[in-house]
Amino acid sequence: MRPQLFLGGLLVAIMGGGFYALQLPLAYFWSIPFVIGGGIMIVVSLFLPESEGPVLPPEGFRFCAYCATPVPLASERCPHCDGVQPREA
Ligand SMILES: [Zn+2]
Repeated sequence: MRPQLFLGGLLVAIMGGGFYALQLPLAYFWSIPFVIGGGIMIVVSLFLPESEGPVLPPEGFRFCAYCATPVPLASERCPHCDGVQPREA
């Protein structure tokens, strides 16, 4: 279940329904594809796993400010790019 995709699909389907109801010449043409596309998005969102949150560095490490390599909290320089790490606030 992926809520963002589910909501997006719902929105698209509602838009398609609105286009269909309004029967504007050009928008009407898009109403059926919108409803179908929204339906597909809703169905797909139900089968996708929950999206993972922001990536966190391993315990005792932080990400290098320059190349995003995990750097031990104690070390002042990145072992990968030798960049001096900003001090923790
Ligand atoms: Zn680095």
